[in-house]
Amino acid sequence: MEEHIVIIGNGISGITCARHIRKNSNKRITVISGESTHFFSRTALMYVYMGHMKFEHTQPYENWFWKKNRIELLQQFVTTINSDKKELHFKDGSTINYDKLVIAVGSKPNKFGWPGQDLNGVTGMYHKQDLEKIEKYAPENKTCKRAVIVGGGLIGIELAEMLHSRNIPTTFLVREDSFWNGILPKEESAMINREIRDNHIDLRLGVNLKEIKSDENGNAKSVVIAETGEEIECNLVGLTAGVSPNIDFIKDSGIETGRGVKINRYLETNIPDIYAIGDCAEQHDPIDERRPIEAVWYTGRMMGETLAQTICCNRMEYKPSHWFNSAKFFDIEYQTYGWVWAQPKESEARFYWEHSDGKKCIHINYDKHTHQFIGINTLGIRMRHEFFEKVLTEKKSIEHVLEHLADANFDPEFYKLHEKEILEKFNSENGTMLQLKKKSWKRIFFKV
Ligand SMILES: Cc1cc2nc3c(=O)[nH]c(=O)nc-3n(C[C@H](O)[C@H](O)[C@H](O)COP(=O)(O)OP(=O)(O)OC[C@H]3O[C@@H](n4cnc5c(N)ncnc54)[C@H](O)[C@@H]3O)c2cc1C
Repeated sequence: MEEHIVIIGNGISGITCARHIRKNSNKRITVISGESTHFFSRTALMYVYMGHMKFEHTQPYENWFWKKNRIELLQQFVTTINSDKKELHFKDGSTINYDKLVIAVGSKPNKFGWPGQDLNGVTGMYHKQDLEKIEKYAPENKTCKRAVIVGGGLIGIELAEMLHSRNIPTTFLVREDSFWNGILPKEESAMINREIRDNHIDLRLGVNLKEIKSDENGNAKSVVIAETGEEIECNLVGLTAGVSPNIDFIKDSGIETGRGVKINRYLETNIPDIYAIGDCAEQHDPIDERRPIEAVWYTGRMMGETLAQTICCNRMEYKPSHWFNSAKFFDIEYQTYGWVWAQPKESEARFYWEHSDGKKCIHINYDKHTHQFIGINTLGIRMRHEFFEKVLTEKKSIEHVLEHLADANFDPEFYKLHEKEILEKFNSENGTMLQLKKKSWKRIFFKV
């Protein structure tokens, strides 16, 4: 009989793993999720609320796909894992056995024990059920006269954009003194502060939530700010102060956990035949400069692909290439390739260029002695992933990157207008005479 692979979690990591196991084998595959029967794109949830798409459109595969590819789907909550018997227990009392188990259970929104955090109308913005709550408590601005968002990261700003799309007045409480400034350098962070305010969000920096107050029916009616004691009336409170691995049910299973499920470079846990991938996995030793837990889409996808190889008898180490990520802050697209820390390290120098409209910039980090390119942030400008993958691998200099901006950019119109200005700024700051190189058409034609 074929080996039975059971995957808990039907997000990007679990589903990628299942698809690649099927590509490479005839094993029996079961994917379990308590959230939804079918895989959907979590990053697209916001667009459902904003009316850009229906929920069905967030599902990248048609419903027939799973049967055709013999991937069994089970909508169940796993409550315990018995690794001695290789058995999972479900909330409804039923069980299932596995030969190999993949834990791909993702994250849950952080709650820090705030008074009132479990009231009606208080929600994270992570699961499909969160979206349903937001729809219920903030359908429009008559039912929801004001919303308050607590926590200024990527999910917080997306929730602000969602509420803005329905003209719901929104207050955004951010603990830091500038948006996401633990990750973004001060210039980018300041640009996003402006973008948030330009979209009529009441952004409050350097403040913490003290408590959420209840009305007589157990609904949130206001929040109180710790520093000032100010009380803000509201009908929806969004808790977006980060996420953590969704692993409470694993704690007594004998599987080693820290903040997440502990794994080695092969994505193996301390128990044979049990693996963990995606947001819930924590590396014993971080890889290069990466964090031990990487709660991002691309990491889940790459881990899913790698683990499928191991499960299909081609044991493979997880070796991610250069760091990259992307997001959107209202109308401003953000991309990052390589490393641009909030603060430069001792051995690093920076080059920053910002467009006069205050909505586009590039920020390059490089070695101040060798001039080796270390990373780039762009806001409002789209770059080519393959270009930066190559220059990082080949350890090219900042000068090389700037001279080849025409190859790097995705948007020819933008560069026609601004590449000269960018280079002139670098030349005047550094006493260099860099010249723009023409786009290498040959390479592009070959790729097509
Ligand atoms: C609003 C939002 C915007 C985002 N934007 C970006 C972005 O722009 N770029 C980016 O890189 N990342 C983004 N992310 C993060 C990205 O979506 C996650 O990193 C990714 O979806 C995690 O995938 P995963 O497969 O590890 O877990 P998940 O997608 O969380 O899937 C895990 C599944 O397991 C289920 N599960 C958990 N426990 C159990 C249990 N005990 N029993 C049964 N089922 C269980 C969960 O319900 C869930 O369905 C965003 C996330 C959110 C919420």
